[in-house]
Amino acid sequence: VLTTTGAFLYVTQTQKSPPDQLPADKEKPTLVVLGSGWGATSFLKSLDTEEFNVVVISPRNYFLFTPLLPSVTVGTLEPRSIIQPTRYITRHKKRKVDVYEAEAQEVDPVKKTVTFQDLSDIRGAAGSVTIPYDYLVYAVGCENQTFGIKGVTEHACFLKELSDADKIRTKLMDCIETAAFRDQPQDEIDRLMHMVVVGGGPTGVEYAGELHDFLIDDLKKWYPEVADRLRITLIEALPNVLPAFSKQLIQYTESTFAENKIDVLTRTMVKDVKDSSVVVQDANKQMREIPYGLLVWATGNTSRQITRDLMNKLSAVQTQRRGLLVDDYLSLLGGEGVYAIGDCTATSYAPTAQVASQQGIYLAGIFQKLGQKAKLERQLAQLRAAPNASPEEIEATVKKLNRAAKLTPFHYSHQGSLAYIGSEKAIADLPLFNGNVASGGGAAMLFWRSAYISTLYSVRNRTLVLADWLKVKIFGR
Ligand code: FAD
Ligand code: NAD
Repeated sequence: VLTTTGAFLYVTQTQKSPPDQLPADKEKPTLVVLGSGWGATSFLKSLDTEEFNVVVISPRNYFLFTPLLPSVTVGTLEPRSIIQPTRYITRHKKRKVDVYEAEAQEVDPVKKTVTFQDLSDIRGAAGSVTIPYDYLVYAVGCENQTFGIKGVTEHACFLKELSDADKIRTKLMDCIETAAFRDQPQDEIDRLMHMVVVGGGPTGVEYAGELHDFLIDDLKKWYPEVADRLRITLIEALPNVLPAFSKQLIQYTESTFAENKIDVLTRTMVKDVKDSSVVVQDANKQMREIPYGLLVWATGNTSRQITRDLMNKLSAVQTQRRGLLVDDYLSLLGGEGVYAIGDCTATSYAPTAQVASQQGIYLAGIFQKLGQKAKLERQLAQLRAAPNASPEEIEATVKKLNRAAKLTPFHYSHQGSLAYIGSEKAIADLPLFNGNVASGGGAAMLFWRSAYISTLYSVRNRTLVLADWLKVKIFGR
């Protein structure tokens, strides 16, 4: 707490607002950052902007703390508690950073330009703009995978953006209110009160857990007439949920779900989505239809269109459909001056916030060195031009320059995996004591809470999240 408060006081005392920042400098290279998610934000936070004119382009002007997004779907947390405006970060930078709320639509790696568009539909919205870059940090993340299954986009809710959580919350309450409406037929109540989650990865599991809490803590009090009719079904194509977790934690999750009356249908694949039912194929290749009120689709990630276009432009070297290929220094194969981080890349790491944020911090280090190099090159040129510069001075600068040019490859350090599974229980797979320690239950839940509170980017977010948790304990959702 003391450290946090100290850091907070330090930041507020040394904070810059645009008038105190260095203005743009035509002599310095332009660094364009695409995205405001985990990768881009951790990069921006650690970046020294003195040697660059930085431009940030993202369709959302804030950072979203995705690990706590499932809690927003049922009102455990308020949406504003888990977002941080991008300008909050950039206003502390030495040199002014331009932030545009816009969607990048095309990257031309040959001309070294980015085209982006203001997506707002208000009068006066700017159109499409193309700007050149010297360096590009590509961190646009991924979009939801649908496997081309018919009806998913039209009828299901995703869980990736803040607007998705809001949509789920509204639809969930609509289902409950409509089920509680007078004279509803019994089978219609059952359908409306059936919440189906597709995908047994961490997103689907955490959502099912949150939904269960809402049922137990609140629904029973507020809607006693229909609360007992609520059913939660989790559908997973593989033989078990959470394939990335240890066997012990998979069993713990499945038994907790069984206790909590969450039906888990494994080896079951959704084949078609209709407006009020899903068609599934089970392990015996039997097809059947499952009616639902709310359908949440959490079957993982796929590349965005802009990323696929970029891959096509560099098809000689970009040969993975899964994402962009980068070298050990996160430099994009085939793209001069382009670096790619996070979910949009195809690396040996899972697409997680942990990986994206470590890559962002690493890349800020690379740019620190690029900046130092540019400064030293200028110093060296001046020394060489000066009639009275000593050879020792020149040699020392050359040595510094060589050191700045030396880069170490990116190394990922896995801090463990955590997931909330409902009823005040979490699971934690931690790499401790030269092995993996698996823990599930209330202690893991406290660990989950404290880990996320300390990872939240600002004191403001920490305070809001703690206050939301307290509010729910006292007043309910
Ligand atoms: P993102 O964080 O998705 O950021 C992409 C950014 O690019 C966004 O700002 C987006 O608006 C922007 N963008 C999109 N299109 C464009 C465009 N055309 N031009 C410019 N900008 C664009 N990981 C964990 O490690 N632990 C967890 O507990 C965890 N929980 C999660 C819970 C949920 C519900 C979800 C959905 C994910 C979770 N993850 C978790 C995964 C984690 O969120 C991602 O791995 C992480 O967000 C990847 O970071 P990124 O920067 O690559 O992409
Ligand atoms: P995921 O890719 O981890 O899981 C998706 C699941 O959906 C898979 O198990 C897959 O078998 C299943 N599936 C796919 N198609 C299906 C179909 N037609 N019918 C039934 N099941 C189907 O996706 P996710 O859970 O969204 O996670 C994405 C990434 O974000 C992962 O890397 C994950 O580790 C990370 N994440 C981490 C956390 C955490 O650590 N707490 C939370 C959320 C997400």
